This record gives sequence, structure tokens and C-alpha cells, in this order.
Amino acid sequence: MRTALVLFTRDLRVHDHPALVAACRNAARVVPLFVLDDEVLGGRYAAPNRVAALLEALEDLRTSLRARGGDLVIRWGDPIEEVRSLVTETDASEVHLSADVSGYAHRRQAALEQLGEDLSVEVTAHPGVVLVEPGEVSPTAGDHFRVFAPYWRRWIDHPHRDPLPAPERVPTPSSVHSGTIPARRELVDGDEAPDRLRTGETAARDRLDWWFDGAIGEYDRAHHDLASDATSKLSHHLHFGCLSVAEVVSRIDRRRPGHDAFLRQLCWREFNHQLLAANPDLPRQDLRSQGDDWRQDDDTLVAWREGRTGYPVVDAGMRQLRQEGWMHNRARMLTASFLTKHLRVDWRVGAWHFMDHLVDGDLANNFAQWQWVAGTGTDSRPNRMFNPVTQGRRYDPSGAYVRRYVPELANVDDVIVHAPWEAADQLFGEVDYPPPTVDHAEARERFLAARGR
Ligand SMILES: Cc1cc2nc3c(=O)[nH]c(=O)nc-3n(C[C@H](O)[C@H](O)[C@H](O)COP(=O)(O)OP(=O)(O)OC[C@H]3O[C@@H](n4cnc5c(N)ncnc54)[C@H](O)[C@@H]3O)c2cc1C
Repeated sequence: MRTALVLFTRDLRVHDHPALVAACRNAARVVPLFVLDDEVLGGRYAAPNRVAALLEALEDLRTSLRARGGDLVIRWGDPIEEVRSLVTETDASEVHLSADVSGYAHRRQAALEQLGEDLSVEVTAHPGVVLVEPGEVSPTAGDHFRVFAPYWRRWIDHPHRDPLPAPERVPTPSSVHSGTIPARRELVDGDEAPDRLRTGETAARDRLDWWFDGAIGEYDRAHHDLASDATSKLSHHLHFGCLSVAEVVSRIDRRRPGHDAFLRQLCWREFNHQLLAANPDLPRQDLRSQGDDWRQDDDTLVAWREGRTGYPVVDAGMRQLRQEGWMHNRARMLTASFLTKHLRVDWRVGAWHFMDHLVDGDLANNFAQWQWVAGTGTDSRPNRMFNPVTQGRRYDPSGAYVRRYVPELANVDDVIVHAPWEAADQLFGEVDYPPPTVDHAEARERFLAARGR
């Protein structure tokens, strides 16, 4: 009787799972495996919010597999060694997994292929993490795109894979010990965000339905508006693969309001993934160095982390991050720009602070976007600098976003809520909120001079 093993990584779903479908098609016995990887869990990547979300997604996946007559087998340690031992134990003749883009994922896949050769087992990497695999579209000169606009044009014309249904049955042999999914504290110390977003395939599919049942219609008009909560909040589901991007894209109808703008954002995700695939050092090294001499100033860094810079929109974003483990895209841009361009702190420091908190914290999206904002990445205007006051007034005109996360300013009126120091006389003694850490005009001059402008 043929046995196939499926190694789940960050593709924690049963719908549109090409690796799982192939295993169920080829074999009479299927062993779905997730390895709590010592290397991943031992590093800074394993932040409490993301580990909690991972465990939730695993519980949900196990429930779905059990409903199909199978189970999720949990092991701890080195994925290659765990695959070796389960292949031997179950006499599996094939191993399936989803291809992924990071340097670590590439090394893991290569090690599995080597193991396959050693054990005479077929190892197959399937699509599933992105829609268009890195390298499937490439520019005339070069192996990957460095600019978004031409990538978008090619990506949109490239044939998109149709999503696959979930297998009806996953016949896991009962002789395999399934193992327990541990409690979060067994894996990592520290607190989770009080209002952390939940994940798992069931929650993700509900959210997807809600989104396409109508909420998406407002996306084009309102997705930049900080207070209106008009974005999909699918990023953490996509990060853990509780939803496949192919399935999300299959629901798009570009003639309908909001759909095209939303598709474009999904394409940014794809763009960043092909960027990381081609540049495994993206989380560590400038893509396009600007010769920056980053500053080390612990006090201003702490003020930024804690949301006490004196710029209300920046502080609101930083506090949203701690409160929810998520931040609005516009606020991510403003807070990252403030750190790298006003405070001149190294983008890696900020990116890792985001990774410490974001439920959707993602090697491709987080580090590519930090580099974009810092001007060391793919932005064609690397020296653009956001003014936190004018940006606040434009994207939070009523001040509702600031008031939600910075309660000290709850009673300050709309005119001054983005620049409370302008009314210091009026507010004196009434509001416990710090003055600006840096003056915008001076910071701008310093930054442009440092960049030789
Ligand atoms: C400094 C910085 C750091 C970021 N870090 C991350 C991260 O770690 N993980 C992450 O998923 N996104 C990251 N983003 C991108 C973006 O902010 C989030 O994807 C988005 O805010 C998630 O909310 P949403 O699902 O409601 O997005 P929506 O606006 O509903 O967009 C739909 C989906 O498109 C993708 N997407 C949207 N905007 C972007 C973008 N600019 N780049 C890449 N993909 C995008 C996401 O998968 C998102 O779920 C970062 C952006 C910046 C500026």
C-alpha cells in the first residue's frame, strides 16, 4: 500500500493545497506532518503573537484533517530528521511540500531532496505559497523584477492557477502517533497583544466570505483612511497559508468596485516574494545601499517603540501594533519612515521590532517594505520623506485613529490633534503628551544632507 507524507510549513489549510491533493491522489495512506522546528522556534522570529497564531492554525488544521478521516502528526526538532524518521516508520515512498521563497526554505527543500535521494523517496515541491512562482515572470534584462509597475503588468497577464478543492478523505494510518499541539508558553515566553487577531483556516474563510460579500466595495475609496478599518485583514491568514492567494485571487472580478485596487495589493505580496527569492539577504542587507550612517540613540528608539515620539499619528501606529499585533499599512509606512528618515535609525532595527509584534510578520513583506520605506529597496523615490503632520491630517482627518490609540489626546480637537504642540498654551497642564522628539523641518534637512541632496 503506497504511503505519501505531506510536510506542512506555512500552508496550514486543506483547501487549495496542491501538495496535499497530490498526496491524496497518489497514495492510499497519507501522513500530514507539521514539525515544530527548533531552529525557527529558537530564534527571534518566534514572537509570542505569531507562535500563538501558529498554534491556533495547527489546531484548526488538525480538526479539518480529522473530519476527513486523517490527523495532523506533530513532531518537534529538525524537520529533515523528523521526515526521515516518519518515512522509515511508515514506509512512505513520496514526500510532498509547498515551495517557499526564503533562504531557509530553499535550504530545507534542498536538504529534503537530498534525503529523498538517500532514501530513494520521491520529494516534490508544489505551488501554494504564492500565485506566480518566482522566476515564472521575469524582465527582459535580469532574472527578477526590481520595480513594481512592470511586474504588475506582467503578473496580471500571466495565467493564474485555479484553486483546488479540499480532499474529501485524508486516510492517515492510525498506527502513527499524532502528538500533541503544545500550549504557547511551552514554546515562547512573553505576552501576546491584548487584541491579537485570531487565525486558522475556518476564521480565514469566514473573513474571506465577509470581505467578498461586500466590504471590498469600499476598498478603493477608503483603504488609506486610518480610522475606517476598510482593509481586508487577511495578511496574517495569508502569512500562515490559512488561505491560499490563488483562492483569494479567484474571487476577484476586476469590473466591480474595490476589486482592482485590492488585487494590486495582493500583487505587492507576490512582488516582495519574488524579491526575497532572488535576494535571500534581503532581511539583512541593503538592496541598494545609500551609504547611510545610521544613528544609535537609545532614548529616541525607546520613544518610537513605545509610541511616545510626540507625533500623534506615529504614536497611534506604534500603539496599535502593541495592542493588536497588526498595524494599518499607511501607519506602517509613516512609523517606518519616521524611524529611518527622521530619527536615522537603521531599518533592520525597526523591522525586527515589527517582527517582535506583527501576527502577519513576514520575511518577504516586512523586510522588503522596510527597505522600500528606508529608500534602500525598490522605491523609485528613495529620498521621499513623509511629514507626519500633513499625513496625519490627510489620512486621519477627524483624528479618530489618533484618539483611538492615544487616549491622552482623546479630548483634543481635530485641528490640533495631529500637532498638539501648536496649541501648547491651551493644553498646558491638561494633556500628558510629550513634545516632538525631533523638529520635522530640521530632521528633513539633516536627512537630505546625509543622503547628499
Ligand atoms: C514597513 C512595512 C512593514 C510591513 N510588514 C508586513 C508584514 O510583515 N507582513 C505583511 O503581510 N505585510 C506587511 N506590510 C504590508 C501591509 O502593510 C500589510 O500587508 C497590510 O497592512 C495588511 O493588512 P490587510 O490584510 O488588511 O491588507 P489589505 O489592504 O486588505 O491588502 C490585502 C493583502 O495584500 C497584501 N498587501 C497589502 N499591502 C501590501 C504591501 N504594501 N506589501 C505587500 N503585501 C501587501 C497583504 O497580503 C494583504 O493581506 C508591511 C508594510 C510596511 C510599509
